[in-house]
Amino acid sequence: MSWRADVLTLFPEMFPGPLGQSLAGRALERGDWSVSTHDIRSFATDKHRSVDDTPFGGGAGMVMRADVIDAALASVAGTRPVIFLTPRGAPLRQALVQELSAGPGVVLLCGRYEGVDQRVIEARGLIEVSVGDYVLSGGETAALVLLDACVRLLPGVMGAAESADEESFAAGLLEYPHYTRPADWNGLRVPDVLLSGHHGAVATWRREQAERATRERRPDLWARYLSAMQRATVAPAAAAP
Ligand code: SAH
Repeated sequence: MSWRADVLTLFPEMFPGPLGQSLAGRALERGDWSVSTHDIRSFATDKHRSVDDTPFGGGAGMVMRADVIDAALASVAGTRPVIFLTPRGAPLRQALVQELSAGPGVVLLCGRYEGVDQRVIEARGLIEVSVGDYVLSGGETAALVLLDACVRLLPGVMGAAESADEESFAAGLLEYPHYTRPADWNGLRVPDVLLSGHHGAVATWRREQAERATRERRPDLWARYLSAMQRATVAPAAAAP
């Protein structure tokens, strides 16, 4: 059975969107994954088909109704993780992406307006995930980000399988910089080591570059990387009898 995504949204036409192109698009055509959309509006029960209402406690904007969202979620069968895209969620990281892509698929709930009534989030035990510390106008683009990240890891989707192991975040580091021909571009030369043909030296240089970029650009990742390294070297010794 192929990897399956069900997306609950007020804008079903947004899918597969950009994921209908390139690697993900070809994988979709091959049937390596599939995406089905469910129009949240079709689960509205009143004659105006309303999906939202004003917030209790006052304030700007509208809130998506718990009863409508609950009915939409109930219509999607299966035992896959159910994720609500929200800036209040845990930041999306490669570790979660790897975990999700190794499973049977996902159910994604896309919010609009101010968000979703908290009661249905809790009652259904939704996994709340954010794609970054900024606010989007809706969960659809966040869902596309999550799907893109998962789909490219599915077996056979990416050209060279090994490229997933080396890239940014896989080892807890940002990736090293890339260069291609021409070796001299407007007087700017490619680092000599990359032209040396010496695989060991190239690997060492890339490792140093990856560590340096992570240290300089992402102190948060660097700190996590250092403590993971420490655990890796300390844990086996501590566990020994
Ligand atoms: N009032 C909310 C933002 C609502 S934005 C707040 O301040 O937290 C409307 C919808 O867009 C959200 O319900 C969510 O589904 C989606 N969204 C916005 N930013 C997002 C982000 N960074 N990650 C994931 N989903 C996001």
